[in-house]
Amino acid sequence: MQMVDFEFRKELIKEDFSLNYCYQCGTCSSSCPVALVTKGEYNPRKIIEQSLLGLKDMLLKDQKPNVWLCCTCQMCVEECPQNVFLTEIFEKIKNKIVLLGEPYPETFKTQAKSVIENGLAIPLTQPIIRRRDQLGLPSVESANIKELKKLLDATDFGKKIKILEDNE
Ligand code: SF4
Ligand code: SF4
Repeated sequence: MQMVDFEFRKELIKEDFSLNYCYQCGTCSSSCPVALVTKGEYNPRKIIEQSLLGLKDMLLKDQKPNVWLCCTCQMCVEECPQNVFLTEIFEKIKNKIVLLGEPYPETFKTQAKSVIENGLAIPLTQPIIRRRDQLGLPSVESANIKELKKLLDATDFGKKIKILEDNE
């Protein structure tokens, strides 16, 4: 049985007060493309409900619904009548999962390593560059890796990823 964790609830509300405004109308879930594709298995309203109830284990350990399935399309944020910043709240939950060393999808680790190495979550490949050219999009400037490394070191980014690797 999941117990309500009032401290965890308070922590989440403190990090994003908009959580407090949710009245569980379900508009977010009905506008969510991932909810549609997964036939409701992924359900943003439920993640918000669990957050309001402080169901820490459900959110961080069981990950049901799995917050990593959110593709951050922002449809729910646009449609929410209460202006709840769902994606910001999900971001906070994801950070907590990583810091706790709980498992999360491999693809996010690959992207994090790519940011450290290339300054981009998805490295530019020739096909991407060609496609951008075809679409008339501007070329992507390469990041200043030296500056970026300084910032990542200052925020312990690499160390945090390593913590996770140690627990794998
Ligand atoms: S749309 Fe907004 S108010 Fe309605 S359930 Fe979702 S987060 Fe809550
Ligand atoms: S941002 Fe995430 S939760 Fe919101 S509609 Fe898009 S996929 Fe669904």
